[in-house]
Amino acid sequence: MTARVLVVDDVPANVKLLEARLSAEYFDVLTAMNGAEALAICDKAECDIVLLDVMMPDMDGFEVCRRIKSNPATHHIPVVMVTALDHPSDRVRGLDAGADDFLTKPVSDVALIARVRSLARLKMMTDELRMRALTSREIGLGSAENDTIADAGRGGRILIVDDRASSAERLAAMLAAEHTADVELNPSDALFHAAEGNYDLIVVSLALQNHDALRLCSQIRSLERTRNVPVLAVCDGEDNARLIRGLEIGVNDYLMRPIDRNELSARVRTQIRKKRYTERLRDNVQQSIEMAITDALTGLYNRRYMETHLSSLVEQAVSRGKPLTVLVLDIDFFKSINDTHGHDAGDDVLREFATRVRKSIRGIDLACRYGGEEFVIVMPETDMGVAAIVAERLRRRIASESFAIGNGTRAIEVTISIGLATLDADDNAGTILKRADQALYRAKRDGRNRVVADAA
Ligand code: GH3
Ligand code: MG
Ligand code: MG
Repeated sequence: MTARVLVVDDVPANVKLLEARLSAEYFDVLTAMNGAEALAICDKAECDIVLLDVMMPDMDGFEVCRRIKSNPATHHIPVVMVTALDHPSDRVRGLDAGADDFLTKPVSDVALIARVRSLARLKMMTDELRMRALTSREIGLGSAENDTIADAGRGGRILIVDDRASSAERLAAMLAAEHTADVELNPSDALFHAAEGNYDLIVVSLALQNHDALRLCSQIRSLERTRNVPVLAVCDGEDNARLIRGLEIGVNDYLMRPIDRNELSARVRTQIRKKRYTERLRDNVQQSIEMAITDALTGLYNRRYMETHLSSLVEQAVSRGKPLTVLVLDIDFFKSINDTHGHDAGDDVLREFATRVRKSIRGIDLACRYGGEEFVIVMPETDMGVAAIVAERLRRRIASESFAIGNGTRAIEVTISIGLATLDADDNAGTILKRADQALYRAKRDGRNRVVADAA
């Protein structure tokens, strides 16, 4: 997929120039002559990267950038400032506005393409995550966007890899005001150190004396534990070819020596905010997956998950010739608990019941809330004899200790009935569940507070 690059400049000749270079590299190019047009295009999510001129009438590039970066709908779009201003203070101003990078006019071809490519690659990854996290936003999880806009990018854990002690210490001292910085002087240990340390950013000197810094960067990128940790390269002088190679293999950003303290701080904050944003997206995706398969009140699996999973567990047991037993549990006279003590008390009972269930089963057992006050426990590799013991223990655990309701102000007696069925040669998920349910029906009919095994 080709990235769509938005070029924003008030001088038509500049737009044409960048457009030609980018088109030659097969990027799709959109153009805007002023800030308002640019914001409209970003708002419609029509571009993947913005190349933004700084000096424009009406609204300058800094302001356009600030608006893109403070809008939850557009803040993830990378912005590269294209500027004739080349003072560290100008760069810091841009970084503070949220810019992801700078290109200095006249723009060198190699630098342009390398930056656009590496930012485009990151953007694609983030888009994929955003798409999946969207579901989680729809079901009311916190917004990763709003949290990120509020995040100043401070308080990060940073690893500095540099085999020259003096320059490493200088970097560490600059970063110490806003972050926790560790120094690794031995590049051979750096990968291990990085993997163990749970870092938010790794700063690598590209001019290591006895070690290939680019190899280290690429190892950081490929190792599972460090794959998502951003890398900031520190370069000496004009080794452009190595730097561009670095960007290709996944270095996220770079700084030239001599290092400007403010620029360093700004770039570090940007990388840390990005990393945290991606983490928030991942967490949201993870949470929404969990929410889709769990019951909100009890935290047990929900019916849909159980039904899908029971089929595979049954198939597995049949093909391996292993036993499998299913328990269907139902709280006795639950309606009258609700009627007497209120619906909230009923909910308290359901939660406490789930807790006691969890304490009574093994990790491989699958416990789910099947409906209102009806539960199912699937026990793989368990025959009827063992399952009946577990069921009886659970029944006693419920009946012998009263349930606290109303924030512990009252306690009530609760009992359950349990039906069991164990896997037959010609069973499937539906039939075994049905037999367990019939056994439960007998337990209810015979007086409740008891365990009944299916006789088949
Ligand atoms: P039996 O011993 O025969 O199982 O009688 P029962 O009263 O437990 O069974 P019944 O099926 O008649 O009633 C179940 C009740 O559970 C009715 C319903 O309002 C209540 N219920 C279902 N879901 C919830 C819930 O999430 N919270 C609460 N508090 N009550 C619920
Ligand atoms: Mg009941
Ligand atoms: Mg019922």
